[in-house]
Amino acid sequence: MPLTAKGPLKRSTRTFWTLLAILLPIVLGTVILYLQAQRTLLRSSLETAEEAIEQFDQMLDHSDSAARALLPLAGQDCDDARQLTLREQVTRRPLVRSTNLVWRNNNYCSSYLGSYAAVLNPQDYVDGRLRLMDGNHLTPDTPLLVYRLTDGEGAALAAINGYHPTNILRMLSRFAQLQLQVGQHWLSSDGQVRDGNAPLAAVASQQLTSSRYPYSVNAGFAQGSLWQHMKNQYPALFGLLIFLGATAGALAHWLQKRAISPRHELQRALEAGEFIPYFQPVVRGDTLQWAGIEVLMRWQHPREGLVRPDLFIPFAEHTGLIVPMTRSLLEQTREALAPCAKDFIDGFHIAINITARHCQDLQLLQDCREFLAGFEPGKVTLVLELTERQLIEPTEITQQLFSALHELGVMIAIDDFGTGHSSLGYLRKFNVDYLKIDQSFVAMIGADALSLHILDSIIELSLKLDLRIVAEGIETAEQRDYLTAKGVQFLQGYLFGRPMPSAEFVAAVVRH
Ligand code: C2E
Ligand code: CA
Ligand code: CA
Repeated sequence: MPLTAKGPLKRSTRTFWTLLAILLPIVLGTVILYLQAQRTLLRSSLETAEEAIEQFDQMLDHSDSAARALLPLAGQDCDDARQLTLREQVTRRPLVRSTNLVWRNNNYCSSYLGSYAAVLNPQDYVDGRLRLMDGNHLTPDTPLLVYRLTDGEGAALAAINGYHPTNILRMLSRFAQLQLQVGQHWLSSDGQVRDGNAPLAAVASQQLTSSRYPYSVNAGFAQGSLWQHMKNQYPALFGLLIFLGATAGALAHWLQKRAISPRHELQRALEAGEFIPYFQPVVRGDTLQWAGIEVLMRWQHPREGLVRPDLFIPFAEHTGLIVPMTRSLLEQTREALAPCAKDFIDGFHIAINITARHCQDLQLLQDCREFLAGFEPGKVTLVLELTERQLIEPTEITQQLFSALHELGVMIAIDDFGTGHSSLGYLRKFNVDYLKIDQSFVAMIGADALSLHILDSIIELSLKLDLRIVAEGIETAEQRDYLTAKGVQFLQGYLFGRPMPSAEFVAAVVRH
């Protein structure tokens, strides 16, 4: 039945949407946080590199000042006075560890050793100006940054102990990775000089070159720093994302549950106009001419196809949706039949099934009025079929309703007669016009004598009460003949016509 059917596909689709609703805010939010973290780390490594350049430039400015002061002495003798000048620069200039004089690539005078002889290869200096060494013969394990200033054949050298650049790298790279690259050598914050190019950082790698001295700086972060950064910086936002995901999931779950709840499904179907009328002819017992029709509801379900009313009417009654459903059925019936009403015999009966719930206020009267307004006066007779299984409480409102209906010319039929407990008083109170003998009694025709006796009693009773009778469920000629012989005025059943959609009915009405 369509109201409760939940196939495995539907369940998996529901789970899919719920999971999607949970994951979507979490994934999207994480992507946004990821991009944000990436931007933050890129900016941070750029700032670190800029700061490092500034510090290294300042450091080399001291070497430059020392070398500039000594350069005019290059080529002069390395006597005590010169040595003293060299030492003076070491003492006066911060960070400068030693100074040398060079003439024609001969390193001949040292602040430390005095007169001295060593060959200097200008190729060892990047741009002829800067050299990063992992040590010299005096301090083989201590890196050294040597600055060279030349003028013609003379040159002055000012060396800085590797401790200082290492210290700058270490101070600035508390969270980042930072290296000083000078030509084909690089220094890292562990104080080691290595050959080649420093490896690029795995995350947010930045490379900056000094505009004043021939070196560059590499900054960046190690593998996994991005997630680490996100974990440290956005714990509250992650909590919020999980909360949003859970809320969205719960909302999606609730909405889907609501969408598949039987009540919501009926409401949806009503709004989508899926409840449509089928018409079954009711014929006169004597002439077998079409005297009217019964309007029967069908649910044109988009997936399940045409659904029988006994599968959804009880639930529609339970929820109260039967009232607007019946109203819609009346409107559709009026629209379908008004154009062909000229082919009807006068007073053509249009019977519609009404539940007890529909009779609790005067709205039904208005619905009937609107229906009849669609036809020429006297062309059709509206019959309300009330099942005997649900008796209507006689209250002031119902009394008022039924007398007003009577005045309007609307007739009342008791449906499924013989299966309930209506009394003579009940039939009188509601001004009943017709009794519809239930098809279970009609089915007794041709069976045993006792069953037939019950049917005969019902027919006799109806005639005595001066009520007109409709017998329903006539499928055989034997049933038809028996009932007409008993004086039953109206007959309904597959023998005369099955319930049919309006287009088919409109086409058939002309023939009858
Ligand atoms: P009902 O009012 O007693 O309607 C007659 C039922 O008998 C219809 O079933 C009709 O198709 C079926 N029928 C007619 N002739 C024959 C026949 O020769 N043989 C057999 N075996 N059946 C025959 P349907 O259309 O399935 O409706 C079932 C019930 O659903 C109706 O019984 C009525 O109680 C309810 N129903 C249908 N439409 C509405 C509606 O618009 N409002 C309300 N409240 N109830 C409705
Ligand atoms: Ca009926
Ligand atoms: Ca019936």
